[in-house]
Amino acid sequence: MSGAARIYLDHNATTPVREEVVAEMTRVLRDCYGNPSSVHAEGEEARAVVDRARERVASLLRAAPDEVLLTAGATEANNTALLGVLRGRGGVPGHVVATTIEHPSVEAPLAVLEREGWRVTRVPADEDGRVDAQQVLAAVEPETRLASVIWANNETGAVQPVAEIAQGLAARGVLFHTDATQAVGKLPVDLSEVPADLVSLTAHKLGGPKGAGALVARRAIGFEPRLHGGPQEGRRRGGTENVAGAAGLGVACELAERELPERRRHAAALRDRLWEGIRAKIPRVRRNGAEPFVLPNTLNAEFAGAAGELVLQALDLEGIAVSSGAACASGSIEPSGVLLAMGRSPEEARSALRFSVGHGVDESQIDRVLSVLPEIVERVRAAGAR
Ligand code: PMP
Repeated sequence: MSGAARIYLDHNATTPVREEVVAEMTRVLRDCYGNPSSVHAEGEEARAVVDRARERVASLLRAAPDEVLLTAGATEANNTALLGVLRGRGGVPGHVVATTIEHPSVEAPLAVLEREGWRVTRVPADEDGRVDAQQVLAAVEPETRLASVIWANNETGAVQPVAEIAQGLAARGVLFHTDATQAVGKLPVDLSEVPADLVSLTAHKLGGPKGAGALVARRAIGFEPRLHGGPQEGRRRGGTENVAGAAGLGVACELAERELPERRRHAAALRDRLWEGIRAKIPRVRRNGAEPFVLPNTLNAEFAGAAGELVLQALDLEGIAVSSGAACASGSIEPSGVLLAMGRSPEEARSALRFSVGHGVDESQIDRVLSVLPEIVERVRAAGAR
């Protein structure tokens, strides 16, 4: 959508691609068409693009470039971290620790492992959407091979105690995977401070293109490729590299590294302005997620008695894009599993909306949302009560 009048508050779903990213990807598509595996100049040029991207991802996360496996996004990274690593370990099913608030791209491979005989303990989240680090560590058993805990949840923005979990797991010799998709570019994701073994991310949540991401994996960790093919990515992922996608991911990471402090300030100021306005103007609202453990850009709020889907649609007609955690499954609106896991009733979960801000959002847009939202909520509440 190029409509200047649109107000896009769904940056946790995906972000507009940054101009710097478009420029570099366009240049690479046009000029660097070589195959990175070719030994001539064109190949070397493409190889250099991929290497540079890897360095930029590594720099943002304070990892080493050879620890960065380029993937087609976080879904592939999560699948590789779980299926590739665990199946690569001798084939004997063991035990995995996870949480009740993982993204489907973690939850689905866990279900695959369960069908293969693995046992999974899912540690619950509290009413603010956080898991307790000690509970995660207490779930470790002698057969536990790996624990997977999302760094920050996509729906609530709740930030998990990953540093404490990583340190505790390292002391117990258990691998730690974290899906940092929503944290990267919004918070420091510094692996020199959080000793995670496997970290997933995707470019399109930080101003990059869709279909490009990475799994950062500590050197000693072996895994079966998810894609069997040529010797690309150090034999860890077959297939000619997505050179332009990698370039876009790299630029997005470089921008994130440079802009992070300012981004956090900008996002938090807008998000707080929105929440303050909502609280002042709309009765019977509740926020899901509690400061200081929330992503700076995310506001998840329930409007009691108003179906989130209907508020979302009315906002869309006003030119405002937001999200409800609910998913449309077989024709009916299913409440968000994440909110249910936090103890919300189906009714409460259905009344939740997620506002997520980012680059390009400004105060006047927030004020415009605040000028239409109270009346929309009132209307939807009245219609529901009839
Ligand atoms: N994990 C989280 C927390 C996400 O929010 C998303 C994107 N919705 C993904 C994984 C999957 O990312 P991708 O679509 O790039 O594979």
